[in-house]
Amino acid sequence: MRLQFLGRGSGFSNDHTSAYFITRDKDFVLIDCPASAFEKLKKIDYSKYGKIFVLITHTHGDHVGGLGLFAQYAYFVLKKAITIVAPSDDVKADLLTLLTIEGNDPSWYKLVHADHLKYTYWFGHPILTHHSPQLEGKCFGYHLLVDDVDVIYSGDTSVIKPYMPCLCNCASFYVDVSVHYGMIHLKLEDVLDDLIALTKVGISVYLMHLDDVEAAEKIISGISGIKIVTVK
Ligand SMILES: [Zn+2]
Ligand SMILES: [Zn+2]
Repeated sequence: MRLQFLGRGSGFSNDHTSAYFITRDKDFVLIDCPASAFEKLKKIDYSKYGKIFVLITHTHGDHVGGLGLFAQYAYFVLKKAITIVAPSDDVKADLLTLLTIEGNDPSWYKLVHADHLKYTYWFGHPILTHHSPQLEGKCFGYHLLVDDVDVIYSGDTSVIKPYMPCLCNCASFYVDVSVHYGMIHLKLEDVLDDLIALTKVGISVYLMHLDDVEAAEKIISGISGIKIVTVK
């Protein structure tokens, strides 16, 4: 099963970016848990799935706003303790604070460092990137294996360079871009040539975390190999 998106919008949109996939072992893996995803997460039938993992890229509200609530929902309604995966020790400590403030008892969930998954076939490694100065050193993407395809998921980022070593083997690159606002995000028109160059070496590029889907569609129209993610 490929990556399924619950939302594709940027921070001030109505459908914040998050995605999930199902592993060969029928575990459910969610990437980020914004509040806007919670309504959709409740509609999923988890009885056919095993463990629930939530990979966190960074702690901006549009990525963790629904995490505490989803942990509670899973524990009390689904009767499952979710496994929350932090990309680093710093982010793990911040997540513990966040979950504690939201009234979660540590026995209701499992909070682990990404190293905990190092022998899991679908997990590659976190990729440290630059995004917001306030969260410098705490913003990550992930290298994953989804449906036998190398997936490079950028998380929020202002640079492409950290992902370049992983962008090979016909990988799929899911990348945060903005049309109107650059700064802490990649600005689409600034990186378009770099993204086109990636498609020429067999990388499939998927744009996510968009501030203006219509404008982005116009910019990439006629360019094969670059698509905007679709939401179910
Ligand atoms: Zn964001
Ligand atoms: Zn962010």
